[in-house]
Amino acid sequence: MNENISLLKNALENSSYTVALCGSGVTEESGFVGIKKPERAYEIERIYGDSPEDIFTSVYYNTRPAKFYQFYEKEILSQIPEPAGSSYALAAMERAGRLQCVITTNIFEQEQRAGCENVIELHGSVFKNRCPRCGEYYAVEDMRRGGAIPQCRVCGAVIRPLVSLYGEMVDSRIMTRTTEEIGKAEVLLLIGTTLQSEVFSNYVRYFGGKTLAVIHRTEHFSDKRANLVLLGDPGQILRQLGY
Ligand SMILES: [Zn+2]
Repeated sequence: MNENISLLKNALENSSYTVALCGSGVTEESGFVGIKKPERAYEIERIYGDSPEDIFTSVYYNTRPAKFYQFYEKEILSQIPEPAGSSYALAAMERAGRLQCVITTNIFEQEQRAGCENVIELHGSVFKNRCPRCGEYYAVEDMRRGGAIPQCRVCGAVIRPLVSLYGEMVDSRIMTRTTEEIGKAEVLLLIGTTLQSEVFSNYVRYFGGKTLAVIHRTEHFSDKRANLVLLGDPGQILRQLGY
């Protein structure tokens, strides 16, 4: 066993509260390329005439729903990734009593679909959709309309996927739960993300535990603030822990 894996395993075995933060590296593990990644953003702008940062916003959803949904169905819904190797490894850790909470930016419920039970979704989920007017909930199947705008069966309003669009704030109750969970953690795992992450860096400040471990495919200068850094495919690394 690699030395860092042994150190991490030891930290996990001695921790009474472990929290995992999952970032975009998890969807990448399953082959999904983020819409803001340069190679994909360029292609999206070429097809739709606007950048993903312009399209995936509430302004666009409100003012140009037809184009928003053309984009959403093709670029997001038709590419929902399967759970990643790391998602299954986290579920096994949770069942073994070695992981108490997962906090994720994943909008595809990869961790839940792999079996994780205690998950906080920071950016919502494509599987949850709701009519903004009457509050009726809809399944992801109701959102696949072959390019047509999904409309509420009750009141006719345009259904909204309950995912964070660019520029939207995380709900304050979710923010509070997240800081509380991180505050309780003795071990904090950053999986498929970095300490410098736009989303997570503010939350990591609430960590007062012993071991902060980064498990990521790519090295980042902020890694030196972590106690342990394990570079490589997060799923393969976590599986070596043997849970
Ligand atoms: Zn409605």
